[in-house]
Amino acid sequence: MPSNRLHLAVVVSQLFQENAYIAHLEGRSDCLVFDPGLDSPSILDKLSELTLEPVAILNTHGHADHIAGNAALKEAFPNAPLVIGANDASKLTNPVENLSRSHGVDLISPDADQLVNEGDVFTDAGFELEVYDTPGHSIGHVIFVFKAESPWVVFGGDVLFQGSIGRTDFPDGSFEQLANSIRSKLYTLPDDTIVLPGHGPMTTIGFEKQHNPFIPGD
Ligand SMILES: [Zn+2]
Repeated sequence: MPSNRLHLAVVVSQLFQENAYIAHLEGRSDCLVFDPGLDSPSILDKLSELTLEPVAILNTHGHADHIAGNAALKEAFPNAPLVIGANDASKLTNPVENLSRSHGVDLISPDADQLVNEGDVFTDAGFELEVYDTPGHSIGHVIFVFKAESPWVVFGGDVLFQGSIGRTDFPDGSFEQLANSIRSKLYTLPDDTIVLPGHGPMTTIGFEKQHNPFIPGD
């Protein structure tokens, strides 16, 4: 068995406790940044500490706490495309839709450079990531699944948390859709699959199927 080459760093923004992930493969200096949140200075510091250069910025969805660092990352790495699910792209530049206005700040991001949908495979920095549409918390929410090593790893945003699930009380949220996304897209992955959520500690599919009080596995 080859040893796993995936390396991860997480930067947690104090506000909203949002997780930004920096992922790279061993021996490479290019990386991917997922959901750069409000603490972009710490993300940029971490990138320079690890001497990594982002070649893409991926957003699981367009809520403000997950896109707040897009502008700073794009400014520092203008060639890195900004990638988001097609149905959430409008949130990037709309403070009402991305919920920042409800917190009293109009926060916007640069426009998307690349839109992704169910079935797409995103490739860069040596990664192949399968894209799944997972609406419910946000209509255009996607997850990115890394299957090149065992266990698989899900960059999961705000769908499934350790012992919890994403909120569904937003204008384009739906508990039924979220439950369906979790059951049909996540709970069908192998039990040892690691989920890296947008908030809180990592978990596994097997643990959530056994213990998640909101969406029990059966
Ligand atoms: Zn969200």
